[in-house]
Amino acid sequence: MLSWGLRWKIGDGRHVSVHNRIWIQNFGWFRTVPCSNLQYDAVVADFINESEQWKEDEIAQNFLKEVSEEILRIALPRTPQQDTLIWRFDKHGKYSVKSGYQLAVKDNFKNDPSCSDSSKSRWDVIWSNEIPEKVKIFMWRAAKNLLPTASNLWKKKIVLEPMCLRCGCKCEDVAHALLECKSARRVWKRTVFYEDIKLMAHQDMLSVIQEVAVKRRKEDRELIIAIFWAIWHSRNLLIF
Ligand SMILES: [Zn+2]
Repeated sequence: MLSWGLRWKIGDGRHVSVHNRIWIQNFGWFRTVPCSNLQYDAVVADFINESEQWKEDEIAQNFLKEVSEEILRIALPRTPQQDTLIWRFDKHGKYSVKSGYQLAVKDNFKNDPSCSDSSKSRWDVIWSNEIPEKVKIFMWRAAKNLLPTASNLWKKKIVLEPMCLRCGCKCEDVAHALLECKSARRVWKRTVFYEDIKLMAHQDMLSVIQEVAVKRRKEDRELIIAIFWAIWHSRNLLIF
């Protein structure tokens, strides 16, 4: 799901769960990192020794052979560094829009009066990026408040309460899910965008993306959108 571009670049390994698949490059078909009875809160740092080297024996004991080999291929920094989220989007990540559902959403976008030429430039911040179509559509849905947040599901009477299941906050709307929730903040804290994001928690999503992104480079804009995507799709998984 996240294999197309977002990765943890391991520094000291203290902020990356070993169960989080996006710290291992070629992960194959596993949904989560297969490892032997490791604690829920085990972090990558548990497998790095004082000399900033991998603990090879412990890795071999705890992970499948293919996974161990991939871990040992990860170069550790020579000087102490923090873990950082990086964007490694390449041609393998470019997919076309395949499903009828996605096409329907896209058609909906084209016919949306708020996406007319006069306001087109507002949306360019999403549509002009070189990221997979489905991620653009995700971001557009977030900006239009079309994501199935607890609050939206509650309005449609699908769930009984609009509460955030991660932190217990009374109302999980898009801004809460992607910016304000403790678990989202933990992710943003690991990026250079945190100070910007912190100030924007009460704005609508399109304004947030525009404000943060327009003053930064295209790669940063793509990274920001990728992080939104990752936060949304990891809401119910242990990954950050
Ligand atoms: Zn929350």
